[in-house]
Amino acid sequence: MNVLFVASEAVPFSKTGGLADVAFALPKALRKENVDARVIISKTFDLPETLKDNEKQLSHFYVDVGWRRQYAGLSQIEHDTVPYYFIDNEYYFKRDNLYGHYDDGEKFSYFCRSVLEAIRHMGDFKPDIIHFNDWHTGMIPALLNEHYRHDADYKDIKTVYTIHNLKYQGVFGPEILDDLLSMGPDHYHSGGMEFHGGVSFMKSGINFADAITTVSETYAREIQYPFFGERLDGLLRQRGQDLHGITNGLDHDIYDPRKDEHIEWKYDSRSLKKKRGNKRVLQEKLGLPIRDDVPMMAMVTRLAHMKGLDLIEHVMEDIMKQDIQFVVLGTGEPHYENMMHYYQDKYPDKLRAQIQFNAPLAHQIYAGADLFLMPSLFEPCGLGQQIALRYGTLPIVRETGGLKDTVLPYNVYEDEGNGFSFANYNAHEMLNSIETAVDLYSRRKDWNKVVRRAMKSDTSWTNSAKKYIDIYQGVMSR
Ligand code: ADP
Repeated sequence: MNVLFVASEAVPFSKTGGLADVAFALPKALRKENVDARVIISKTFDLPETLKDNEKQLSHFYVDVGWRRQYAGLSQIEHDTVPYYFIDNEYYFKRDNLYGHYDDGEKFSYFCRSVLEAIRHMGDFKPDIIHFNDWHTGMIPALLNEHYRHDADYKDIKTVYTIHNLKYQGVFGPEILDDLLSMGPDHYHSGGMEFHGGVSFMKSGINFADAITTVSETYAREIQYPFFGERLDGLLRQRGQDLHGITNGLDHDIYDPRKDEHIEWKYDSRSLKKKRGNKRVLQEKLGLPIRDDVPMMAMVTRLAHMKGLDLIEHVMEDIMKQDIQFVVLGTGEPHYENMMHYYQDKYPDKLRAQIQFNAPLAHQIYAGADLFLMPSLFEPCGLGQQIALRYGTLPIVRETGGLKDTVLPYNVYEDEGNGFSFANYNAHEMLNSIETAVDLYSRRKDWNKVVRRAMKSDTSWTNSAKKYIDIYQGVMSR
């Protein structure tokens, strides 16, 4: 089975969020199950020196974007067993940020069209499935049906669409249909890609894919309700038969406390003393009091509203009243960046705000902290809590999306659980969970038992990759 995995970002080349991790880890896991999975992404980066020599220029071609004809270079590299194709166009992709430009509609129309065109230039590799991801790639099945089905190489290609976050939808003016996608006005209706007076990449992906997946079972259910459905819940209910939730795994080569190159003390569930060594190193690095008896809670996150930062704002004073250290690594909305700075100034012995994107520091925090806070309003899957589990840093989460599917709350009577959770989006419920966690920290024997259980949680990709293969087989047999 040949699968072409299409994404706007992939680790280790480019990353703004969890999508990039999936684009790296899932194809790798699929290849272990004998699927010829390959990845195609836009070349928004310069290759690191160590990889430059491996890059093969395959071809170049021109892509119609409405009345324009735009250049596309196609190169290939093999990285960590997976072949990657890069679409190169400096005009669209050599920019400071991946998203948020005035011409995103044009840029991603170009990307969708160049991916389909690139298939002619991949030599022997002919995809059975195009697995496309998030709104940036959402026009692929519509373009495939409109412009390519007459061609024998494209006739039987099936499409699978994964929604990593329904909130970001890619809605542009109706003129893009004709101007950028070369599609007639007959596509502009509510059963197609029309969306509240615009044209929606997300809706188009949902409507025209053979199967749709999203990144946890709970999120797959949630998005069929108006609160989470972002005005697409009706369509998602309609496509309910073809909508599946598959929880993301974690790449165990990148996130492994036994051999993580970014951390000083490598450890596993039998050497938790060394984890405390990492905590000491982190406290020293951040200028916090060096104390083992105080629990250290951490967040590594985009500072975006959906991550539950308003709950933290509401009870920050109460959090700071406890004997706790709180470390936040993240960038995002200025309001929350300022808030973190404000409380750091007010509580310099308790709070450290690192307003930056810093992958090595993230690893040191996952390894050094005791608790990982993730009180999201919604969370399609969430990677942070899974990394935390693997590093024995107990997650405190709100029961939504993938957080609900991966964290089982600690229950003293049943002696079960790998973290802490609360049900309602309520600051005092969150505070209550933090207090429960802080209390357990003072009972070291019980604490260590839960930590060991957390580290043994199944966060691997193996089971999830098998579920994707079932879906591929399902659409291929139609
Ligand atoms: P989302 O995709 O919504 O941002 P996830 O939890 O699924 O949230 O994935 C976020 C990923 O990005 C995690 O691997 C997390 O460790 C990482 N990350 C987020 N912010 C930072 C940061 N400031 N520095 C380093 N890594 C970060």
